[in-house]
Amino acid sequence: MDRPALYDKDPMDELIQRGELFQEGTGIYTFGPLLTALIEFFERQFLKLAESCNAKSYRFPTLISAEYLQRIHYFNAFPHSLSFVTHLREDLDVIDDFASNARYEAGGLNTPPEAFSKIHSLLSPAVCNHLYFALADKPLPGGELAATAVGSCFRYEAINLDSLERLWDFSMREIIFVGPKDFVLKNRESARARMEGFFKEIGLVYMVESANDPFFIGEFRKQAAFQSAFQLKFEIRAALPFKDSTLAVGSYNYHQDFFGRNLNISLPDDSPAHTGCVAFGLERIAYAFLAQFGIEMDNWPAVVKDGLT
Ligand code: ATP
Ligand code: ZN
Repeated sequence: MDRPALYDKDPMDELIQRGELFQEGTGIYTFGPLLTALIEFFERQFLKLAESCNAKSYRFPTLISAEYLQRIHYFNAFPHSLSFVTHLREDLDVIDDFASNARYEAGGLNTPPEAFSKIHSLLSPAVCNHLYFALADKPLPGGELAATAVGSCFRYEAINLDSLERLWDFSMREIIFVGPKDFVLKNRESARARMEGFFKEIGLVYMVESANDPFFIGEFRKQAAFQSAFQLKFEIRAALPFKDSTLAVGSYNYHQDFFGRNLNISLPDDSPAHTGCVAFGLERIAYAFLAQFGIEMDNWPAVVKDGLT
């Protein structure tokens, strides 16, 4: 944070004017070629990081199973931002009635709630959970695993969804480690050190701060204090000079054996696996970069300009 940033405006208005950004709905945006090229540039760096960790590529679904979310107590810990998926009940009368009468009115579809099925899937709130679900209820092959994937993530953060800072539908690249404690912590630390070099090279103004997931509810509030005390989560916070604040563009997380215990992922010595992940918000990193350097490419650092291809 000790370097001054070059630019001090919110790039959003200019991006919209230039057709680089289009708001389709609350927290739902389409990105044009400039933002896309910038995101792809950052993605290439994250893929290099993944390669340096020997992480294998995975593809995870956009939907996520309610049954598995229940096993990791997600409904108790993070209820406020969940996005539920439903479909019409498998009943011809319900489907006919929908086809004849469904209309979008201010505030939403006019369809009565009883027309919809019970909920068994949601939209994924994060990427790494899918890997833990796939590894559940068996020994971890080889005793350690590094994986990477990019995915769409969904968090409904109500009143805060009117800028690029907080989206309902966003993309996350994660590098995920599963194995003994030392394996996870060593990899998290080497990922952090490598990213420090990269952020320095592009001249990003940022800091890394010990953090906790902000919205733990009820008895899970204790968990937030616990996260801070044991340094389980570090956030990469990039400066947003136009509002004199910072925005989390990524995080380095260690979950101890939480997933290993709840999902029964075992190590060769029969103890539960530990997990950790390094997660980057793709839209946020591009937005924070533009907030610091502006949208004129001439003013961008050479490594970024040359790396766009
Ligand atoms: P953990 O595995 O510990 O739960 P996580 O993988 O869920 O962590 P987070 O730290 O919650 O990861 O989020 C990772 C990154 O995703 C954030 O640093 C941010 O850049 C991005 N992100 C999170 N929420 C949003 C949002 N609503 N809009 C845009 N980007 C977001
Ligand atoms: Zn994760």
